[in-house]
Amino acid sequence: MTGTNIRAAIVREFGAPLEVDQYELPEPGPHQALVRVLTSGVCHTDLHAAEGDWPVKPSPPFVPGHEGVGIVEAVGPDVTDVQVGDLIGNAWLWSACGECEYCESGWETLCEAQQNGGYSVDGSFGDHMIVDTRYAARVPEGADPLEVAPVLCAGVTVYKALKRTEARPGQWVAITGIGGLGHIAVQYAVAMGLRVVAVDVSDEKLELAKKHGAEVTVNAREVDPIAAVHEATGGTHAVVVTAVHPAAFGQAIGFTRRGGTIVFVGLPPGDFPAPIFDIVLKGLTIRGSIVGTRRDLAEALDFYARGLIHPTVTARPLEDINAVFDEMRAGKIDGRVVVDFREN
Ligand code: NAD
Ligand code: ZN
Ligand code: ZN
Repeated sequence: MTGTNIRAAIVREFGAPLEVDQYELPEPGPHQALVRVLTSGVCHTDLHAAEGDWPVKPSPPFVPGHEGVGIVEAVGPDVTDVQVGDLIGNAWLWSACGECEYCESGWETLCEAQQNGGYSVDGSFGDHMIVDTRYAARVPEGADPLEVAPVLCAGVTVYKALKRTEARPGQWVAITGIGGLGHIAVQYAVAMGLRVVAVDVSDEKLELAKKHGAEVTVNAREVDPIAAVHEATGGTHAVVVTAVHPAAFGQAIGFTRRGGTIVFVGLPPGDFPAPIFDIVLKGLTIRGSIVGTRRDLAEALDFYARGLIHPTVTARPLEDINAVFDEMRAGKIDGRVVVDFREN
């Protein structure tokens, strides 16, 4: 049997513009489905992938995209958990082994044999994609395909990161970086009863944070952000860092009060200096967090289904993908850009 010809945005070479062209997908294998893509969010991770920013790189040619929402068109052998016509999505955690110490202990996001959507496996920047039905997102009935797409990565990532801060209702959390991830983080935090201080380097992003419920905003380019956060909150109980500049990581450590927890989710290449004395004397916890499990994703989608979060989205055609990446590099996107395949 031959595969399916699709129209996709393809990375042929790191750092070069993506090519919108024909691309061939294989037939869906065991536990896989062929999905007609309706929409796909554009995550900054897709830009890191196309630039080859990280130590473990994908192999061109490949199709990025891991916030794809679509309709099951065909299923491979042994698929019993979804049917043709179901609304489902892909994810960064495209699949995992299911039997290692991480998979067996609720940490499938750390599985060393995982596959990643739009990275090690072709993703959703095409009019069709393949998913592993055991790991694909179940998109709630009645969801707006444009609004729900960013929940599949940005939403679940910040939802999980907020849980990992262990902050309780009424406590302060700083969200630093109010982009695709951060503007949704503000909303989950508010829904969880946390008090939010938003930090970014752009006033437009901070306006968006206010609209979504941040009580305090700090422009780190205009004022000393550590002093400003302490003045407004007395030091936060927690921080979630989604910013795409390494400088934000060192600053975040300064935002918390004693005993605070700082969760890193942004992934700019590079390092930052960390103050040993402060970390020890203030008893800080610093941890990384990577997307979320299938259960986290179902919970994150449930917040959306109950109307507790509303991603700010702008629809664009696939042909605009290189312009969208330019806007993302320049920090010019409000909320999330979502590619809309339904317009063609
Ligand atoms: P984005 O481009 O939409 O947003 C990035 C934001 O960071 C922008 O608002 C920008 O103004 C802000 N920023 C830049 N420099 C800053 C600074 N010095 N201080 C404060 N804010 C600053 O990107 P996104 O899609 O939200 O992704 C953010 C990062 O998170 C990327 O590195 C991405 O790869 C990573 N990511 C991680 C996970 C995970 O599971 N850990 C999941 C998804 C994305
Ligand atoms: Zn992502
Ligand atoms: Zn595993």
